[in-house]
Amino acid sequence: MSFTSQAAGPLQISYTVSFPEAQAHYADIEMEIKGLAQPRLNLKLPVWTPGSYLVREFSKNVESFTAQSGSNAVNVNKTSKNTWQVNTQGLSSVKVKYRFYAFEISVRTAFIDVTHAFLSTSGMFFYPEGGLNLPSTIKIKPYKNWDKVSTSLAMVGDDAFTVKAPNYDILYDSPIEVGNQDVFDFTVGQTRYEVAMYGGGSYDKDRLKKDMANVIQQEINIFGENPNKRYVFIVHNYARGGGGLEHLSSTVLGASRNAYSTEAGYEGFLGLVAHEHFHLWNVKRLRPVALGPFDYETENYTTNLWIAEGFTAYYDNLCVRRTQLFPVEHYLDALAADFNTIDNTPGTKIQPLSQSSFDAWIKSYRPDENSVNTTISYYNKGAVAAMMLDLEIINATQGRQSLDDVMRYMYNEYYKVKKRGYTDAEFKAGIEKFAGKKLDDFYSKYINGVDAMDYNKYLAYAGYKAVDEYAGLNLPDLGIRMLPLAVGKYKVSSVLRGTSGWADGINVNDELVSVDGVPVTDPKTIIAGKQVGDKIQVAVIRDGLPLTLPVTLLKTVMVKYRIESLTGLTPQQIAVRKKWLKI
Ligand SMILES: [Zn+2]
Repeated sequence: MSFTSQAAGPLQISYTVSFPEAQAHYADIEMEIKGLAQPRLNLKLPVWTPGSYLVREFSKNVESFTAQSGSNAVNVNKTSKNTWQVNTQGLSSVKVKYRFYAFEISVRTAFIDVTHAFLSTSGMFFYPEGGLNLPSTIKIKPYKNWDKVSTSLAMVGDDAFTVKAPNYDILYDSPIEVGNQDVFDFTVGQTRYEVAMYGGGSYDKDRLKKDMANVIQQEINIFGENPNKRYVFIVHNYARGGGGLEHLSSTVLGASRNAYSTEAGYEGFLGLVAHEHFHLWNVKRLRPVALGPFDYETENYTTNLWIAEGFTAYYDNLCVRRTQLFPVEHYLDALAADFNTIDNTPGTKIQPLSQSSFDAWIKSYRPDENSVNTTISYYNKGAVAAMMLDLEIINATQGRQSLDDVMRYMYNEYYKVKKRGYTDAEFKAGIEKFAGKKLDDFYSKYINGVDAMDYNKYLAYAGYKAVDEYAGLNLPDLGIRMLPLAVGKYKVSSVLRGTSGWADGINVNDELVSVDGVPVTDPKTIIAGKQVGDKIQVAVIRDGLPLTLPVTLLKTVMVKYRIESLTGLTPQQIAVRKKWLKI
């Protein structure tokens, strides 16, 4: 290989990854750098992985970092938490070796054991400072009988165990699965899809091929093109798994081994497929201006995760709905569940969606006992904002256009034509273009403000309404959440703002002993038979000492929605519903 002059010099970089101690969760990584002409070389490891907005300090997993030139040791100084400085004075090449510990099961962290290695590349491979534009090759030496590598990175020649990345943004956006995974494939249009299943499971390959292709086609219909020629789903099946992480030409999904055999589990898996695959457009290509090119060493702030994640969360269920594989009631139930999540989170009245996005790094990714009172999910609330905007556009255009047109327009305009991310104002202008009206009021209420969302105004456009089953019932509620401490013992895990427990001073970590002298053995029956307005005595143990708290029971602040059809629909409502839900 040879390269023209680059920021860090014409360096040629190759990695070799082996697993001599896979049983102890280690990868041994050798990084060979040729073409050196500088006295010092700073090697850096990213502190976060794009798509997961938390500084994770991956360099905590690095040990035994050494460098050598031929058989001579080369001096190395660690100069920051994630920077190793190699003294390359007078050297044209250097070989760096380090060991990486990988034992955190998640879609955004590396994991190695004797059954497989999941290489979350951004957390494992060093880059030369100033050299993110450089290509590299990665040679994998599998452990024992491992026989496959699954990644969206291209092979070098016909060596299935050596892959190449044109630059570090691509390398860090291309996780690598190594092991004995069950691989199957299918095509959608001109694109070849590979599914690499780790961990076994009750999946039916033929059914998945058909249904995944169906979901994917719904998404291609929105954006009008599929920018990938090849796409890889890496699926980790565990006893209990969930979540996913999007990448440019691949994704990593966490799934539950047995979920495929229940209808709800299967629909949930297709929803996850829809979500992560939708991201290949929304956030990986059509993106907020702050999310790329990435700064891998610090937080990258954006107020637009309610679009990047929330719109994706809206479209995941909607695209599954459009496959017609499940009844429309499933979609409406999921929507009602989003309404419940929002309205049953007191933080929705405190934290605007734009701030939920901005503070993801310190709030949603670092939840604590008070998060429910101070934060709101940009997933659920962003999805409902998307629903409201979608219905606004469909209604305003008598069913001719929808949020789909906004997504396609923004993708073309910013990813393809302008080749950059969008600003807050530009995305807003994109929606306004199709809604045919200014959205200042909508933004100040629901995006930058904390007004209660008027679900029914928008649902009515499609002839539906959300009904709160608790409204009209005078239900008493302590307003606390509990966790089991031991058999028959419970402690308070959170106290919801605006409830009896909040007003009368029940604290997180209080162990609940009794209510009016009746021992607490089941959280569900703790206030059985009580009425709103009753004054009760709640006995707790706080920091080892008994304490009795007088509490006046207030009416619950919780909601429980279901979505119903209105009667006597107008032709306009029928047209909106048809466009929205494809029924
Ligand atoms: Zn997402």
